Amino acid sequence: MTELSLIDLHTHSSASDGALSPSALVDFACTRGLKVVALTDHDTVGGVAEAQRTAQGRLQLIPGIEMSTVWRSFQIHVVGLFLDINHPELQACLAEQHQKRIERAEEIGHKLERLGFTDAYARTKAQAQEGASITRGNYARFIASTGACRSSDEAFNKYLKRGRPAYVKTQWGSVERAVQVILAAGGIPVLAHPRRYIMTNTKLRELIDEFKRAGGVALEVSSAQQRPCDRQYLAELCGRFDLLASVGSDFHCQGAWRDVGFNLALPDNCTALWQSQQYAERFDIHTQFA
Ligand code: AMP
Ligand code: MN
Ligand code: MN
Ligand code: MN
Repeated sequence: MTELSLIDLHTHSSASDGALSPSALVDFACTRGLKVVALTDHDTVGGVAEAQRTAQGRLQLIPGIEMSTVWRSFQIHVVGLFLDINHPELQACLAEQHQKRIERAEEIGHKLERLGFTDAYARTKAQAQEGASITRGNYARFIASTGACRSSDEAFNKYLKRGRPAYVKTQWGSVERAVQVILAAGGIPVLAHPRRYIMTNTKLRELIDEFKRAGGVALEVSSAQQRPCDRQYLAELCGRFDLLASVGSDFHCQGAWRDVGFNLALPDNCTALWQSQQYAERFDIHTQFA
């Protein structure tokens, strides 16, 4: 059985690789009864203003981001919540990330052209918002839309993941830098989907240790379609590293296995961001939406 949550702190729109526009995402979250949603597009806050306008008086839209980083050759994602999206340090960092994304997306496009996908970059860009962060998720959906693969998942596995013909490596910034920039912009740094990284528990604890030392605040303890034992383990790590707990579906499109607000219950032995002494007041759920 899935359970509907009122709070979802990790979602994507067409400002990066989500299928819905920021407004449509907010509408969809409202129909599902959500009260608090963070928009956390990859390396961009470009969808936040539109989402906030649509959310006005309906749900609390938290301005957020999901930053791409590299830690010891692993691609690690750091979510930032409650950002001042106009902060100059954040803006400068995102300009750098955006440039890297453009160069990489062009390279991936060239590789796909050689594999027979005509105008791959332009056609992929056309499916997202103007100026969007183009990720492998965008390309996966584009490839599926051509009929060359039955699903984005298949396209990702056949063409885009490491070792496949359209894979392009990128040197993102460090986890430490992402955490610093998020803090500078007044945000809360959250280590995204820690169980999705293919690494040993020892390495994961080292990563979390470095994240915490850099100023990291929370672990994304619950994500959709995650095994209860993984939640339990992450909740324990919150205790061990003195970190709070966040939740996020990582919603990209309707009907996929990560649906907005679904199946995000937290284990008892951790403290949610919205229940914490330090951050509870930022969540409107305690006031107007209670
Ligand atoms: P990038 O940041 O450009 O490396 O792209 C990462 C994005 O690719 C993720 O945020 C997902 O949206 C998407 N992705 C990862 N794995 C898969 C998969 N198996 N099928 C479809 N999309 C995926
Ligand atoms: Mn994505
Ligand atoms: Mn991610
Ligand atoms: Mn995500």
